[in-house]
Amino acid sequence: MTNAASALPRGGLAVLLGDPVAHSISPAIHNAAFRALGLGVTYRARRVEAGGLPSAVQDLYAQGALGANVTVPHKEAVVPLTESLSEEVRATGAANTLVRTMSGWRAENTDVAGFLAPLRPYAPGLRRGSIVVLGAGGAARAVVYGALRELQPGRVTLLARRPSQSEHLLRDLKGHASGTVLETRRFADAREAVREAALVVNATPVGMGNAEATPWPDSSVFHRGQIVYDLIYRPSWTRLLREARDQGATTIGGLPMLIAQAAAAFQLWTGREFPHDVAEAAAIQALAR
Ligand code: NAP
Repeated sequence: MTNAASALPRGGLAVLLGDPVAHSISPAIHNAAFRALGLGVTYRARRVEAGGLPSAVQDLYAQGALGANVTVPHKEAVVPLTESLSEEVRATGAANTLVRTMSGWRAENTDVAGFLAPLRPYAPGLRRGSIVVLGAGGAARAVVYGALRELQPGRVTLLARRPSQSEHLLRDLKGHASGTVLETRRFADAREAVREAALVVNATPVGMGNAEATPWPDSSVFHRGQIVYDLIYRPSWTRLLREARDQGATTIGGLPMLIAQAAAAFQLWTGREFPHDVAEAAAIQALAR
């Protein structure tokens, strides 16, 4: 893959484009990683409104930036502004990373690798099992595509409050579902599906910044032998995770995914191994602030 690694300039720039970005801990993670490797690269968060995205992406390239992360609400809008697309971007229609190449930006989606990383030890046990995904937005696209590509589930059930959104997602991704049954349900009709799932993933923002909110209030369905994975990383123990843990389920929070998607972006930008422990410590410190 063509990237900037072969000619990594000292003193480069990497940027997070989104709106809002002030709350993001990506600058803490990446600046700690760049410093640890002595690369002299600075990572900055830049708030960009929707109308300003095309010029922001163009200006960054003209400034010689090494790369960028892209967050809400620009992950889909940024795709047509790039010169080439990774397989993950083609499948999900969303990008969270831009990598400088000789001829322009390459769009990547490292949320897919980020989502899968903490599941690796459990992957054999998930094969042919069922997965329930709560939410049908951008993160759910990375989750469903990653699960279809690497976990070979028997069934994926998508829960959405707007069926048109989940149907659209499944239409886009059904070409990757060899042997997996794909279905969409409303939250109110999904009790059995959640109870029977080997893996339940929260890809809604419900519970973010609010320790009492949960996207699935009926915790009696959770049980031992099940994995409950909340993509939210603030707070680290959401109500969903606390209740699943209390019922004996294995829990995974959003921080390992955040670190793993950052690691994949860092690797694409620099060609260097991500200093995982340093970055994780910086993330935990930033979250505590
Ligand atoms: P998004 O594109 O806005 O999608 C959110 C989804 O949740 C939509 O389907 C939305 O439905 C649904 N939703 C919102 N509020 C709901 C509610 N009260 N009840 C039921 N469904 C609801 O957001 P996203 O980018 O996918 O992000 C989703 C979550 O994942 C966020 O918390 C984000 O921080 C997290 N995330 C974490 C990582 C990580 O590295 N850990 C990476 C990416 C995302 P409507 O469209 O109908 O509102």
